[in-house]
Amino acid sequence: MSDSKREQAERQQLLSRIQELQDALNNVGAYVFTKDINGRYTFVNRMVCELFNCTPDQIIGKTDEAFFNLAISNDLRQNDIHVMENNVKVESEEVNYIAATRERRVYWAVKIPLHNSTGEVSGLCGISTDITERRNLEQQTHEQKILLDSILNHADAYIYMKDRHFHYRYVNSKLAELFGVSQAHILGKQDADFMPLEEARKLNAMDRRVLRLQRKQCGEETITHPNGEKRHYWSIKVPLFKENQVDSLIGISTDITEIVQLRKQFEELANTDALTGIFSRRHWMERAEYEFKRARRTGHAIAVILFDIDRFKHLNDTYGHLTGDRAIQMLVSVCKNILREIDLFGRWGGDEFVAMIGNARFEEVLLPVERLREAIARTPIMSDEGEPIYITSSFGVVLSHQHDTLANLFSSADTALYRAKCEGRNRVCLFKPDGVGGGSSRADAIVK
Ligand code: GH3
Ligand code: MG
Repeated sequence: MSDSKREQAERQQLLSRIQELQDALNNVGAYVFTKDINGRYTFVNRMVCELFNCTPDQIIGKTDEAFFNLAISNDLRQNDIHVMENNVKVESEEVNYIAATRERRVYWAVKIPLHNSTGEVSGLCGISTDITERRNLEQQTHEQKILLDSILNHADAYIYMKDRHFHYRYVNSKLAELFGVSQAHILGKQDADFMPLEEARKLNAMDRRVLRLQRKQCGEETITHPNGEKRHYWSIKVPLFKENQVDSLIGISTDITEIVQLRKQFEELANTDALTGIFSRRHWMERAEYEFKRARRTGHAIAVILFDIDRFKHLNDTYGHLTGDRAIQMLVSVCKNILREIDLFGRWGGDEFVAMIGNARFEEVLLPVERLREAIARTPIMSDEGEPIYITSSFGVVLSHQHDTLANLFSSADTALYRAKCEGRNRVCLFKPDGVGGGSSRADAIVK
């Protein structure tokens, strides 16, 4: 092959090599360019051409002044000079506005100095990647995080996320304050790291249900804090799924201690009689229903005692209502001394009282009732003038045999009480059905 032909072949090879490189640079997904020492473009890839909306010929030989406003082109020039004068690689974020649309774009620009054959800096090569979308996304994520953080940290609730093994993945600032540590300190730890094991176990019971049942759980949780204070929380716990498996849970717990205390106070008010502190009629009935059913199940007999102060109207009329109140209080305190803790004792209303004695036996039941009657009769109350006053009371007693409902049992006790009143008061009457399977209203009186 002649020299000129070889040269031509080599030239051809070189040209096709350059074409290959250009193709590669055109498809690299970044803006690639080179500039000479004076900032004039010496090479631009296709993306730069598209950005400037020009052909390579219209760009090569020109500086950034031709494509950007003065402020931006000055900034770019300063940046280029820094690279070339200091012979260093510079990486920075650059902001451009696309001339045609005025759209703001952000680039990650890497500029490296180029050298001639003698090693002197002859220009630079720039590679810029468009990171506008990534930046926008980061910005959005950042804003959402700020929004979420301020909601979570200002909500009046303890909000947290736990993994499958109950390690905290997130806690809001309120929960960190409750544990007395920083939010970061709690991450990766479990409840048992901040409270006695027993308390932690109680909290994890609902967590376990969320994992097992794979659905939202709600309920009350109670924690005894290190200072001994018991606080109540209403908790809602929701499972979070990953690949169809519960991966973690989110919990929202609100402190309802004050509400629980109020509820307890209301319950106590509703359940107790204001003058005497013993069970109110409604609450006595609830408890009695329960005891009655239990006695039927176990086959044990129970006794119901209904009793009423004799001629109480007269006492009120003679000595005044307050003295009457004191008489009621005296009767209650005498009864409380004689009855056992387990005997249900309540105020039926007015001057009428009721007691239920469990495990009662026919031959024994009248003894404590007699003691009640006697004790009431011999305990004086003082009139406003300091004069001792004595009251008596009448009792109707019934045993639960052959009574299928509490209402029936009750009506029999009432019958027996009525009989005690009719037969002269200050006495105990035991209701006895007339014959086996009876249920008549006849009661046998046991006179004092
Ligand atoms: P009896 O022997 O038949 O039972 O005659 P009694 O006068 O006791 O008649 P009754 O049991 O019907 O009267 C109940 C009275 O109790 C009527 C009411 O004025 C009075 N009373 C009801 N509740 C209270 C109270 O809380 N305090 C006082 N002081 N009196 C009450
Ligand atoms: Mg009475």
